[in-house]
Amino acid sequence: MTSGEKPRTTLLDAREAEAERRLFGLWNEELSQALGGFGLLKYRLRQLETALYRQKVTDIQEVTTWPKELRGKVAAAGFRVGLPEIVETFRSVDGTERYLIAGTDGQTVETVWMPEGDGGEEGDSSAEDDEVAEGSSRKAWSRATICVSSQIGCAVNCQFCLTAKLGIIRNLTAGEIAGQVAAVLKKHEAEPGRDRINLVFMGMGEPFLNYDAFMGAVRLLAGPMEIPESRMTVSTSGIVPGILRFAQEKVRPRLAISLNAPNDAVREGIMPVTRKWSIADVLSAVRLVPLRQRERVTFEYVLLDGVNDKEEHADEVVKLVRRAQFPARVNLIAWNPGPGVPFMMPSAETVADFQNRLREQGVPAFVRKPRGRDIYAACGQLKKTTSRQEPVAGAGGE
Ligand code: SAH
Ligand code: SF4
Repeated sequence: MTSGEKPRTTLLDAREAEAERRLFGLWNEELSQALGGFGLLKYRLRQLETALYRQKVTDIQEVTTWPKELRGKVAAAGFRVGLPEIVETFRSVDGTERYLIAGTDGQTVETVWMPEGDGGEEGDSSAEDDEVAEGSSRKAWSRATICVSSQIGCAVNCQFCLTAKLGIIRNLTAGEIAGQVAAVLKKHEAEPGRDRINLVFMGMGEPFLNYDAFMGAVRLLAGPMEIPESRMTVSTSGIVPGILRFAQEKVRPRLAISLNAPNDAVREGIMPVTRKWSIADVLSAVRLVPLRQRERVTFEYVLLDGVNDKEEHADEVVKLVRRAQFPARVNLIAWNPGPGVPFMMPSAETVADFQNRLREQGVPAFVRKPRGRDIYAACGQLKKTTSRQEPVAGAGGE
C-alpha cells in the first residue's frame, strides 16, 4: 500500500475473510464445517463449544482441554475466538450498566445489564416462583436481565425513540447478538443455570427485520449457552412477516408487541410502520403463535403525555386486548426523554391512573420501572453517546 488510496472493496473483503475465521457464533454443523480441514472428532468439537460458550474463552490457547499442538495448528490457520469485547461501561446510580460492545468492524452496539431487573415480566408468576439460586448470595444481585441489541440503529422510525434517529447502520450477526450476552455474563461471572438470567431483545434495532441472525442467536443462547428460551423475551414493533415466521419456530422466546397506541390513527402518528401493517394485521399474525402453557403475549405501551395516555385511550386498549383473543398483559412504560425527541413525560399520577383503569376492567397491567435513565440506558434511549457512527459503505440494512 505505497501509493494511492486503498480500495474500499479490499478492506471489506479482508473483513469478510477475517469474520469467517471467527469461531464465536459457530456451533454444531457450522463449527464442524469451518474446522473440517483438521479432521476433528466429535468430542473435540464439543470441548471447543464448552470452551467458547460456557467458559467464554477469549483465545484459542485457553482451550485447555485440547492438546497444545492442536491449539497451535488451528490458531496458525488464522482462526480466532472473536468474543465481542466491552469497550466502554457507563454505570447508573441504580446499578444498571450500559456497555458499548465492539462488533466485527469496530462499530459498537449497546447492551444493558440490569441487576434485579424484571425482564419485563414483573408480575408474571414465573418470575416469582423461583428461589434465589444457591451460590449467588455472594454477589450484589440475585438475578439480572440483559437487554440485547439486534441491529446497529433501526429503520422503523418510531417518532418517540432515540435509536430511530440513527437510521439503520447495519444488521448484527448471530454471533454478535449472542456475543453481547457472553461478554456481559463473563464480566459479571454470571452462569446461566446457577444464576437467574433473563434476556430481553429490546435494545437497538428491530429483531424481526434481522430475523435469521436474531433466531440464530436464540438457538445459540438456548443451546450451548444454556439459557432457557422461556427466560427470553423478544419485542417487535409489529413486523408481520417476522411474526408469521416466529409462529413456526419450535424454540422461541416469549413475544412482546410494541403497541403504544389504542388505535391505528394514533399509532400511525407515532409509529409509521402502522401504515404497512395495521394493528388488526399484527393481532391476526400473533394469533397464529402457539403459546405455551400459562404464556401471555405482552403489549408494550409507552405513555406519551397528551398523545396516548388519556382515559378514553385506556378504555380503547381494554377493548383491543379483549378483541385480541389471546392471553395478554400490558406493560406500561413512561416515555424516557431524549434530546431532539419532541414528546413529554406523563406524570406519575397519569401512569398510575392508566394502569388502574386497565386493571379495573380486568386487563393485567404493570408499570415498567425506568432503569439507568441517567446513563441513557433506559428503553428507547440507546445510542445517545457514540462517536463512530458513520454508516459503512456497502453495509446493508433494511
Ligand atoms: N424495536 C423493537 C425492540 C426495541 S425497542 C420494538 O420496538 O419493539 C424496545 C421498547 O422500547 C419498545 O416497546 C419501544 O416502544 C420502547 N421505547 C422506545 N423508545 C422509548 C422511549 N423513549 N421511552 C420508553 N420506551 C421507549
Ligand atoms: Fe426501532 Fe423499536 Fe425504536 Fe421503533 S422503538 S425505532 S422499532 S428500536
